Amino acid sequence: MLEIMLTGHSHYYAVADVLRCFMMSPVEDKEGGRVYCKEAPDIRLRSGVLEDQSTICATSDGTVSYHLPPVTSPVSLSREVKRTVYLALSHITGREAPWGCLTGIRPTIVAGELMDPSKLTEQYFVRPDKAALAVETYVNEQRVQSLIDGDDLNIYVGVPFCPSRCEYCSFVSSDISHHMGRLKEYWDALELEISTAAPRISRRISTLYIGGGTPTVGSDDDTKRLLDIVFGNIKVDKDTEITIEAGRPDTITETKLKYMKQMGITRLCINPQTMNSDTLRSLNRLHSAGDVIRTYDTARETGFDVINMDLIAGLKYEKAAELLKSTERLIELDPANITIHSLYKKRRAGISREDVLANDDDVDRCLTGAHDMLRAAGYIPYYLYRQKDTGHGLENTGFAKPGTECRYNVAMMGDARDVLSFGAGGMSKRVFGQDGNKFRVERCPCIKDVIGYIASSADMAKRKMDFFDIM
Ligand code: SF4
Repeated sequence: MLEIMLTGHSHYYAVADVLRCFMMSPVEDKEGGRVYCKEAPDIRLRSGVLEDQSTICATSDGTVSYHLPPVTSPVSLSREVKRTVYLALSHITGREAPWGCLTGIRPTIVAGELMDPSKLTEQYFVRPDKAALAVETYVNEQRVQSLIDGDDLNIYVGVPFCPSRCEYCSFVSSDISHHMGRLKEYWDALELEISTAAPRISRRISTLYIGGGTPTVGSDDDTKRLLDIVFGNIKVDKDTEITIEAGRPDTITETKLKYMKQMGITRLCINPQTMNSDTLRSLNRLHSAGDVIRTYDTARETGFDVINMDLIAGLKYEKAAELLKSTERLIELDPANITIHSLYKKRRAGISREDVLANDDDVDRCLTGAHDMLRAAGYIPYYLYRQKDTGHGLENTGFAKPGTECRYNVAMMGDARDVLSFGAGGMSKRVFGQDGNKFRVERCPCIKDVIGYIASSADMAKRKMDFFDIM
């Protein structure tokens, strides 16, 4: 077991965050005054803040010891604790984390404050290529964000159902494929919520995103019903960016595509995750790489010019280098957007710890290679986020051909624009002080459980009307 004893400070969360960059599942034991990882070599460290506010991190036998000079503000004290713990762990493990001790889901926020990749490296030990990616993405993100008027509203409609559960799925719902028999009740509940709240919206709608799950799940009639609920109640205009996640090619039909086009949907997501059919089968996705290509071609023929395609780096059942082949095949298809995710670490169950560590460098190298291929093909990064347990300590990055960036993604990830969410599990948010550089965000969650949502969507509508002052 590796344990870090805390003395002179209580930044348990910060210490656990850094430890997570090197080991899996750190535990914050506040009663015991420590943070530890059970599955790790037997090492005891002490992380301390001294009276002069300098920070230290050292092994109990003193063989490894780092001491950083004093700081003044509480925010930077937490950062200094992270820096000393990071240096000690990096020394002990012989590894460097791609994002250094810059933890948190939005590294672009810090990148925007510093606006200099070398400072990210100096202050947070971020690897130079990741530091450059963060600053470049921040600049693109700001440009896209400026296209969304602060007075406008962005709307999310969630459909937490899928035809089968992908093995790596980190979706919040307990099992999104087990509730399929409730789909019609879900439409009724969604209609009640949307038809109660949406007519009261007087703000212009900049973006509308129908996400999931897989909103195109079910029959042609199910998709028609969903779109009728949405477009029968929510007033979009010709400039509204409208996205639907038709993520699973096995749910897309020509009839659905035509109706989506007819209703004014401008952006479509067809997500292969990998272009290796064997991997897809092993992951319990019910389609092949060939299905992805056929669906993509049909969507283009139907008139969808902006299509996003997702890939995942570090998938189980395939070598890391498969990501490069998949990226190459997508580039040949020439979609407007390609997003590359890193496998969520918690979903790597079944892979041994040794496999994980041996695999990390390969995945890291292939992700960098895939980014290089995308840049060479004319794509630019425009939004980026990390999950707390993102696999391999890496990140998720949205790439786009310039001018086709998804405004909704930026509105949602940037935490700088209002979002009203309908459907189970959605998170509504209001942003205050949008004209300055600092924002205050208030959030209003919707019940996650599908059955609970079906029983309470009228209450959910009232909760959101209250939240947005549109009672
Ligand atoms: S399509 Fe997405 S939401 Fe649905 S099961 Fe697969 S990973 Fe989960």
